[in-house]
Amino acid sequence: MVHLTVDIGGRPGSDCRGFCAYCYFKHAKDVPAFGCRYCLPFLKGCDYCTRGVKEEYAGFLPLKDVADSFLADLQSVTDEVTRITISGGGDPSCYPEFTDLFELLGTLEVPLHIGYTSGKGFDDPAIADFLIAHNLREISFTVFAADANLRREWMHDPTPEASLEIIRRLAAEIEVYAAVVILPGINDGAVLTQTLSWLSDVGVKGVILMRFANTPEQGLILGNAPILPNQRTHTVEEFREILKESGAAFPSLRISGTPLYDPAFDSPFALRNMPDLLDRLPKIHKKGTLITGAVATPYIRSIVSACGGDPSSVVGVAKEIACLITIDDLRQLDLSVLEDTVIIPGRAFLHDAEAEKVLSADGVSRTVIRGPEMLSADGETSMGMSEIDVLTMEMEGFSALIRLINQYGCST
Ligand code: SF4
Repeated sequence: MVHLTVDIGGRPGSDCRGFCAYCYFKHAKDVPAFGCRYCLPFLKGCDYCTRGVKEEYAGFLPLKDVADSFLADLQSVTDEVTRITISGGGDPSCYPEFTDLFELLGTLEVPLHIGYTSGKGFDDPAIADFLIAHNLREISFTVFAADANLRREWMHDPTPEASLEIIRRLAAEIEVYAAVVILPGINDGAVLTQTLSWLSDVGVKGVILMRFANTPEQGLILGNAPILPNQRTHTVEEFREILKESGAAFPSLRISGTPLYDPAFDSPFALRNMPDLLDRLPKIHKKGTLITGAVATPYIRSIVSACGGDPSSVVGVAKEIACLITIDDLRQLDLSVLEDTVIIPGRAFLHDAEAEKVLSADGVSRTVIRGPEMLSADGETSMGMSEIDVLTMEMEGFSALIRLINQYGCST
């Protein structure tokens, strides 16, 4: 089973018929490279943390280049290709040669998947029938609201009625997953209920609710906060409640949220409520500090404690999401509470050597170890997983983390 990706390039916002009002890429500055897990030990900045994270493409790639590179990928695989995903920095619905690309891929008779579209580039509902006829089988579609006027105002969709009709036609035939960025006072409350009700009626399979972020702590690391001055954001607790209530009110929809929560599995960190599984994790017998994001801190503390570790060894930074921790977050830490071994999140935007320097600035030489890639699945990831998949991922993540503490930590 091979999944291939067709990369069409493009820039978020610029190649989306203009920015949605809430787009995370709006006002993004040309910030210096953060450093990351892919960087060479002696060089801060690689292609991923310099360009990839900003989805910095020059523009949409010409169809010829897209096709050449896809055909090269296709020729290099020996197994059967079972799925082809179309994605890019820009919005596929705005790709100038979209129908030509689809006709080309449709001849392969492999199920096609559009990784993400706002639908702002689609103006004619007939495109839905065209896509179904050319083997589109799954699509993730940004909705914002079932109210066309709100789509027009906040997504700057020139033809919102057509976009909603396309969702309706697609959902009747293929798997449609909807994404809704939630802005308090704009599309939450009764508007969200109306939107979920409409999505449920038209047969959408799942909905990912995305909390709007407006501050660096909430994840805007491209120097672009605030996206919407004076716009309130939901707290993590408020957002979890929205997810819980929505999941209970619309049982036919698979609803989960990011940065949390998945009401179907009580995840992330569903493991914390499973004593039998916690018993199977290795015991912690060395000391080390675990740096993580503000959201994950209480969860990881409870799991560390269940494994015999000291919950105070889990130190949360102000940044809410561990994967978006940067060197500025480490600079704000009270170094006196850190052990000599510090484990940083596997995906954090840190260069290990720089992290080590900042965390040793008080004269105590500390060793920085990069932790596992993931300790749990966020709502976007768990949406396509079973409960067993999520728990397996958490067991593997925490087992690896505890092995690192026991291997590199100091004696207790
Ligand atoms: S469609 Fe997505 S990437 Fe494009 S402007 Fe809107 S939010 Fe940004």
